[in-house]
Amino acid sequence: MENMDGYHEELGLVLARAWNERDNSTPNLALADERALFRHSLAGACARRLYYEITAPGQRAGVDMPGSWAMGLGSVVHDLYQQALPEDFEVEVDCYIERSRSAGHIDAAGVHHDEQIVIELKTMNGTGYRQILQAGKPRTSAAMQGALNAYAWDADVLLVVVLPMENVSAPNAAKMGIPDSWRYGRTFVYPRKEYMPLANLEIDRLAQLAQTIETTPPVRMFVDDGAFRVVVDPANGACADGKKTWHCSYCPFQAQCMADAAQEDGAWGMNN
Ligand code: SF4
Repeated sequence: MENMDGYHEELGLVLARAWNERDNSTPNLALADERALFRHSLAGACARRLYYEITAPGQRAGVDMPGSWAMGLGSVVHDLYQQALPEDFEVEVDCYIERSRSAGHIDAAGVHHDEQIVIELKTMNGTGYRQILQAGKPRTSAAMQGALNAYAWDADVLLVVVLPMENVSAPNAAKMGIPDSWRYGRTFVYPRKEYMPLANLEIDRLAQLAQTIETTPPVRMFVDDGAFRVVVDPANGACADGKKTWHCSYCPFQAQCMADAAQEDGAWGMNN
């Protein structure tokens, strides 16, 4: 089958292009609260990235088409999930934490069966979802974002809901020994005593960063599974512990960070 004219393919990609134009026309979304420095959606993120978000938003790389397609599909599921929730829930609730000067949009919050519940929703590709199932826990960043929102709402329970963009097949589910319902969604439950340590870890880190971040580039350090890890090479995400992280390849400031790393002589260098 031949592609006779460019406009044939254009028609096939019309939705992806529309999403891509939208994503790149509003790269710097407003914070949920004007007092905030930090977004809850970047919980656990590399401190240097947070610095660039605040001091150099113009250096942010644009979103590519595959990225827009993935985000667009995720946001459609997000919207439909929120519409399907019981009426007990408010959706897209703004929240703010003074101590960490951080703000977020809570996906859903409300009293259900006499419990104050906050829901943090994440959509994911199939590979990422299977990794979550194997790990038996959501990504640190998702749990920390949910924990900050739950803290701000004073929730009894945080639910981190992870929905895949494709099912786990029946044969793979049998191999993994998972129930049928986990083939298309997994809910992780954090009672207050479990989400509070995550929230406090991030609130303390952000409170400390808030004192200097507007003037001083911080160490390239992020939070992973309750521990701090330091990036030593932003080009490939190599960390001081000898492992690699995905943070750098998904970072919209990677080019700026690499350029700065090449200039730094150690005062704020990669190993500090
Ligand atoms: S490229 Fe890596 S080290 Fe640099 S700001 Fe981004 S996440 Fe941090």
